[in-house]
Amino acid sequence: MSPHKLILATQNKGKIEEFRRILDGIAAGKIDLLGLEQFPDLHDVDETGSTFEENALLKARAASFATGIPAIADDSGLCVDFLNGAPGIFSARWAGRHGDDKANTAKVLESLIGVPDEKRSAHFTCVAALVLPDGRSHVEEAHFKGWILHSPIGDLGFGYDPIFRPEGLEISSAQMSAEEKDAISHRGKSLRAIAPHVINLLNSLG
Ligand code: IMP
Repeated sequence: MSPHKLILATQNKGKIEEFRRILDGIAAGKIDLLGLEQFPDLHDVDETGSTFEENALLKARAASFATGIPAIADDSGLCVDFLNGAPGIFSARWAGRHGDDKANTAKVLESLIGVPDEKRSAHFTCVAALVLPDGRSHVEEAHFKGWILHSPIGDLGFGYDPIFRPEGLEISSAQMSAEEKDAISHRGKSLRAIAPHVINLLNSLG
């Protein structure tokens, strides 16, 4: 049987490689994973949902319905308890401009000035969503718990990694290798959790 096609609805090459590794671990050769760059006519989707789940489903649905191919998307962000869960779904554009990591981290640090260590708890959330062209879907949500530091440290990773100290560790997530972070991160966990459902649902298509 020829492999099932599956779109990973993200422009992020790192996410595509990570998901390819996970799927290869449990279904080598059964899935042909395609990135969005192979579908230049697909437009960016406005993330108009009010939850991570809604936004992940919006992105996966848009890709699947436009192409007739099953699609996976994820949506993620940082939730700081002292800020009542902010920046949350607005993480990528918290300081105004989409993807301005420096400004975003600075804004979070500023809003926590004077807040003591024990009140700086936070977690990353990731929702992975699979949508089939017939409308069926499956979502998996995962968290990565930790604490917000007082200043940035480390230059690996991206986004809020330099100001996030994972629970139980003495380093920031910007001081972890990609493999170390994948093993415990919100994205690694949600992708590993959805992978068997992806295989079951794709197999149900015949
Ligand atoms: P998206 O899932 O690509 O939309 O990412 C949302 C935003 O959340 C990113 O731009 C980052 O600011 C933040 N974010 C999500 N996951 C991580 C992570 O693993 N490390 C640091 N920042 C993250």
